[in-house]
Amino acid sequence: MKNQAKQYLALDVHQATTVATVRDEQGTIRMRATVPTESSAIVGLVRGLGARVHVAFEEGTQAQWLHDLLQPHAERVIVCNVRGLSEMSNKSDRIDADGLSEMLRVGSIKSVYHGGSGVLTLKELVRCYTNLVDDSTRVMLRIKALFRARGIAAPGTSVYRVSERAKWLAKIESRHSEIRIDSEGTLRIGAMASLSQLEQSTEAMARFPVMKRALRTLSNVRVRNVARIGGALAHGDPHMDLPPLFAALGARVSVMGHGGMREIAVEDLYAGYYETTLEKNELIAEAIVPPLNGAKAAYMKVTSRSADDWPALNIGVRLKTEGPGHIREARIIISAATEKVTRLNEAERLLTGAAVNDALLSRAGDTAIGEVSFLSDAHGSAAYKKELLRVYLSRAIREALS
Ligand SMILES: Cc1cc2nc3c(=O)[nH]c(=O)nc-3n(C[C@H](O)[C@H](O)[C@H](O)COP(=O)(O)OP(=O)(O)OC[C@H]3O[C@@H](n4cnc5c(N)ncnc54)[C@H](O)[C@@H]3O)c2cc1C
Repeated sequence: MKNQAKQYLALDVHQATTVATVRDEQGTIRMRATVPTESSAIVGLVRGLGARVHVAFEEGTQAQWLHDLLQPHAERVIVCNVRGLSEMSNKSDRIDADGLSEMLRVGSIKSVYHGGSGVLTLKELVRCYTNLVDDSTRVMLRIKALFRARGIAAPGTSVYRVSERAKWLAKIESRHSEIRIDSEGTLRIGAMASLSQLEQSTEAMARFPVMKRALRTLSNVRVRNVARIGGALAHGDPHMDLPPLFAALGARVSVMGHGGMREIAVEDLYAGYYETTLEKNELIAEAIVPPLNGAKAAYMKVTSRSADDWPALNIGVRLKTEGPGHIREARIIISAATEKVTRLNEAERLLTGAAVNDALLSRAGDTAIGEVSFLSDAHGSAAYKKELLRVYLSRAIREALS
């Protein structure tokens, strides 16, 4: 028959032997024993004390093993803090076990161990929580900094609330997503305007039909609904459509930073592959496209897969003419075939002041391919892109003049 009274077993565990003391609920020592530190001996000792045995031993190298070994056989297993015991005077194994059994009986020892997997889970959760707090603090500071950089003070916490999001974004959007033609006929596009907004601006598209054609094959409507003018110009991917087109049109960006506002010509906005000339603290606020004033423009996106894919070559052309087919001024910009938006200065010089014919365009093609270095990528090899430029320079000029 099982003993229903609680028994308090304290173990002083060593490599070879374990000293045990058992007390009853009244505090009387009922047994003292020394057993080998082996599973069968220790489990045998515990099971011999009945179902209501409480066991305690000090934290140490064997603690995890012993805890998991005894848990199925005892009512409670406590791994305790060594410091509590080491404060006791007159230490010996026997005294340790006697003292610990009394502490166990009166409930004055703390458990420091909750099972192997439990501890690991706990540690992992604490680590995740710490990371989460660090990350969320970083994100919160960043959000406020981004508003501040746009001249909007965001005190308190309302800026972080999902329910308030629309209100805060509207503060940015209304100021920076406007598309308008100013009194001089210059197109001004706020950096937060989406590419779809630009596409749907009848006034802008009427003045710049070349933009309308370019936007039609700029990826797809879902991308254009989300992509913004600022992002499309600042991303720095040479395959993008707007940088070479805007550079060909002689556009500038107005940039705001800690030092105030400045303007950068789009053709000077790119330092290399995915690299712009913006300072770290600068944002594009507006794209400024001067009026065509009779100039003719063309933009061609040459893809090696579908028409709206990333291109192997982009080419934008803006020509001022005097008389049919006679070029007074030329701006020719390419990208995608090169690591960044690149102006073809030599080809422009050749075409300026000349009457267009096949021989001239052929020479312009040769000049163009000689003045840039080509980039091989998934959309075409450097040699292929060289041939594309030879062909498409001529086609773009003819299209602009048509
Ligand atoms: C599937 C897919 C296909 C695409 N195909 C084409 C394509 O054929 N042709 C094409 O031209 N584009 C293409 N794009 C690019 C797309 O048009 C966006 O321009 C691009 O994804 C940038 O998106 P975003 O405007 O949301 O800018 P974000 O992703 O917000 O920003 C892009 C970069 O610009 C920086 N940035 C954003 N705004 C500003 C600002 N005002 N001032 C300074 N820095 C800023 C950001 O910090 C980030 O580094 C494609 C995109 C996708 C996802």
